[in-house]
Amino acid sequence: MDIECPSCKKRVELDQRYFYHAARSNQGFLYCDRDSTVLVFSTYDPAYVRIVGDVHPWMLDFDQKAEVEEHLIACPCGGSFSFSSPPQCPHCGGSLQPALPSPMHYVIMGRLIDGDREPIWKD
Ligand SMILES: [Zn+2]
Ligand SMILES: [Zn+2]
Repeated sequence: MDIECPSCKKRVELDQRYFYHAARSNQGFLYCDRDSTVLVFSTYDPAYVRIVGDVHPWMLDFDQKAEVEEHLIACPCGGSFSFSSPPQCPHCGGSLQPALPSPMHYVIMGRLIDGDREPIWKD
């Protein structure tokens, strides 16, 4: 599946053939602020729960989001993961968010960092 970038109108091919619905799969996600890497974590992740408690990622307030961001590792590209980073078009860097069905969907265009499989938290 691919989507059209709202900014440059180019087609963006997605690695996966569908959008992930984060709420349905109990996941939180953040994009890198420099490239299209997406980091996902489980809302049951003990490290996450330790930081904010039993709160769904889309219910976090500004301070809680900042707390989570602070504890996350940096992106391999050197960027940082931020709840406010939109999914970036690999062609023009514009936001692909308007092309997604909802803010609770995320797309994998490049690298996926899955907190269930690899360490995502700083010590
Ligand atoms: Zn674009
Ligand atoms: Zn990055």
